[in-house]
This record gives sequence, C-alpha cells and structure tokens, in this order.
Amino acid sequence: MNLVKSIAENIENVNERINRAAKMVGRHPDQVSLIVVTKGHPLEIVQAAIEAGATDLGENYVEEALPKIAEFPGGGDLAWHMIGHIQSRKAKPVSGNFSWVQTVDSLKLARRLDRFAGEFARRIPILLECNVSGEETKAGWTAWNELEWHTLAQEISPLLEMENLIPHGLMTMAPFFDQPEKARPYFLRLRQLRDYLAGVFPQHDWKQLSMGMSGDFEIAVQEGATMVRIGTAILGERPKKEG
Ligand SMILES: *Cc1c(COP(=O)(O)O)cnc(C)c1O
Repeated sequence: MNLVKSIAENIENVNERINRAAKMVGRHPDQVSLIVVTKGHPLEIVQAAIEAGATDLGENYVEEALPKIAEFPGGGDLAWHMIGHIQSRKAKPVSGNFSWVQTVDSLKLARRLDRFAGEFARRIPILLECNVSGEETKAGWTAWNELEWHTLAQEISPLLEMENLIPHGLMTMAPFFDQPEKARPYFLRLRQLRDYLAGVFPQHDWKQLSMGMSGDFEIAVQEGATMVRIGTAILGERPKKEG
C-alpha cells in the first residue's frame, strides 16, 4: 500500500484511540497533541509522515536528527521535539535546531542550553524530564518520592529564571509493562508532581505533560497527558541498525 496513505491511516487510528481515552475521563481530545517519533527511520519515512499530516516530530539522537531537520526545517506548521537524553556537549546543536526540548534533566544542561539559545537569539520552550519510577536506567530529575519534591522544587528553581528557556511542564517515560494499565501509577505521579510544582511556582506555565508511547498512551491520556509520543504504532517497527 502507498506509504503516505498507510501512515495517514495509522495517525487517524491513533487519534481515534486518543479521542476515546480522553472522552472516557471527560477531557477534550484537543488537549492532547500527537508527537510522531521518527527516530530510527530514514528521510523518506519522515517525508511520508509529514505528507500524511504529522506536524510534531520527535527525535532522540542529535546526529540523526540534524539532517532531517535540515531537510524539513521547523517553523510554520512543523515542530521538532528533542525527546532523547542530551549530553551537555551536544547542547549547542540542540539549542540551534529543535523547536522544543523535552528532556532537560539537569541544571548544568539547562545552563548550556540557555547560553547557546541566547547566542542563537532563540527562546526555547522546554519540559523537565522526571524519573517517577526510580528505575536507575532512566534519565530525569529524581522524583519518585513525594517527600523529596520539596528538594526538587529548590533544585529546579534557578532553571525557571533562565532568560532563554521557557518551561511549560514535565515529561516522563513509564517503565515498560506488557499490561499498559500497570503504567498508570507513574503517569498519575507525574501529574501530581506537576500540580505540586504549579502550586510552588504559580508564575510559570506547567500545562504540558508529555507522557505515553505506543504501548501505553491511552492510559497516559486518561491520566492527563497533553503530548503523547508515538513511533511504532504509526510508522511501524524501527529498522534495525547496521553493525
Ligand atoms: C522511542 C521513544 C518513543 C516512541 O516509542 P514507541 O514505542 O515506538 O511509540 C517515545 N518517547 C521516547 C522518549 C522514545 O525514546
């Protein structure tokens, strides 16, 4: 089947599932945006996804993303979201190229992103990546223990004052489960943390909750996700890397 058409059908199907999940809990489906995760896929697939109507694209690796962004620059209706861990030496190309940075996970990284954003005369919308599961392999601000949220709030407070980074909320990855329902407590915890931070720092915007992937996005939407990051369910399995 035609690639664009099959991707468009998958997008429609995912959007229907988002709508149903939102309605189940009395949310408006317009409150949820779909980020199509193109990591691991070649330019032709990115092109097809854009033709199929994708407007927000997610990438994990700076080197892989740059040629794609060069081919399809953001701006207008298209936005590129950085959703992978960022080494601080990659802060410059991230600041220069992405529309959103969802994975700000330390002050050191934030300072560098802020500095380079200033050099590029950009103001970048960001999310703070939080680890609400306690899994050691996961990046993000330590946030699984509510008793430590007070400390977390103090830690992030300098970040909120940075000139060129504009915080809009939180991002997380739930642990992987065969049964998506099991991810619910982690999504709930991210929302509660958001509500807590919004109480401590009411002068900032905390609206966005980026959570939910192909395997668990309906649960995430039920728990308040405003951005879901979907790769496989729209573009199919990622091709295996060579070597
Ligand atoms: C790869 C990735 C996704 C998309 O995962 P799928 O299971 O393919 O939908 C979402 N978020 C992050 C942070 C990812 O690394």
